[in-house]
Amino acid sequence: TAERRKEVLMAPEMPPFDYVPPPYTGPSGDEIMAKRKEYLSPSLPHFYQTPLNVVEGRKQYLYDDRGRRYVDAFGGIATVCCGHCHPDVVAAIVEQTKKLQHSTVLYLNHVIADFAQALASNLPGKLKVVFFTNSGTEANELAMMIARLYTGCHDIISLRNAYHGNAAGTMGATAQSIWKFNVVQSGVHHAVNPDPYRGVFGSDGEKYARDVQDIINFGTSGNVAAFISESIQGVGGIVELAPGYLPAAYDSVRKAGGLCIADEVQAGFARTGSHFWGFEAQGVVPDIVTMAKSIGNGIPLGAVVTTPEIAQVLTRRSDFNTFGGNPVCTAAGLAVLKVIEKEKLQENAFEVGSYLKERLNGLKYKYELIGDVRGRGMMLGVELVSDRELKTPAKAETLQVIDQMKELGVLIGKGGYYGNVLRVTPPLCFNKEDADFLTDAMDYTLSRM
Ligand code: PLP
Repeated sequence: TAERRKEVLMAPEMPPFDYVPPPYTGPSGDEIMAKRKEYLSPSLPHFYQTPLNVVEGRKQYLYDDRGRRYVDAFGGIATVCCGHCHPDVVAAIVEQTKKLQHSTVLYLNHVIADFAQALASNLPGKLKVVFFTNSGTEANELAMMIARLYTGCHDIISLRNAYHGNAAGTMGATAQSIWKFNVVQSGVHHAVNPDPYRGVFGSDGEKYARDVQDIINFGTSGNVAAFISESIQGVGGIVELAPGYLPAAYDSVRKAGGLCIADEVQAGFARTGSHFWGFEAQGVVPDIVTMAKSIGNGIPLGAVVTTPEIAQVLTRRSDFNTFGGNPVCTAAGLAVLKVIEKEKLQENAFEVGSYLKERLNGLKYKYELIGDVRGRGMMLGVELVSDRELKTPAKAETLQVIDQMKELGVLIGKGGYYGNVLRVTPPLCFNKEDADFLTDAMDYTLSRM
């Protein structure tokens, strides 16, 4: 085991963890890549020069086919909140799978109802009626449809640089050219992004919010269906909305008869550490909240939560889908909520996230390449620029850093419109040793560029 442990650790200073995977006997990365090229969509990306063949996951660590351990600081795109294969989540899934894998919402089963109740009790105000979906995209599609049905209006406002999904409606709300196709996505207006780093008004949220009012005044009949936004833009490069933005934007939207939708697909479920939901940091209560990713710790599950009054619009239409609220997924969701509470993952996200951000800020003073360090809890971003004054995006260097850090045993993501933001969104059980290892790996990488 000692020999095996040596193989598994990529560097002697890697944080300790008692799991040692058995030797892998499956197909090689090259074989999988060949199959992928032949049988899977050509749109599938891979991050690294040599694609990573991941075979196991334990908490905040992933293991490749050679048995080498990686600190997973991307968390399956901000999805694995309790950690890979958390034993409580695995047990809930296995037990439920043995009892009932699938029924349909036409019958009663207590797991869906229990999870809906648990979700509602974690939300403020009157947000208590839950609709389950299979993904974040579907959740946002449904939220936008509910708003349109409820208000009788079609116009929706979203933020530039937003990512809300890639189906017909949500692709309209998504506002980055790389995620859009030339198909009709009507009825969405994109407001100026309240981006404290790149935006023209710096951190003055109220000034940015004037654009929402302008859109209502000059781009619509004066009434809108909804305003949808993330509280921290994830795909957009971990952009925290300027303080004071959401209260002012919500005010304009509500005066125009619209509903306010909070897309918590990435920032929700304790990821930001300071709050359970990202929108809480701005002191607002939305009319509709959408969620996915962390809700099932990686099991496909999404949800839309709204008020009983707004939910009434769906009585006119039988809104359900075959898999939404599947008992195995909702059993996983219940286990996730319990783990977050039992292991104080929100508190950990806050504490370790603050420590990690401080250490990353330390790198900013050392390396000119780092233009900005931002985010909260386990949702942090490091924006790389080749000229700090001009904020010139350092896209090639970003790819290089990601690749080099993988070689050192740390997995991080990238994002932002210019592809120049390192995204750090690990499982919420990430600890200070992981944070040190990540920062040291980034330091080492940047020192050689
Ligand atoms: N909303 C946000 C904020 C997201 O980050 C994503 C995905 O990254 C989505 C919606 C879409 O979720 P999904 O990929 O589950 O469809």
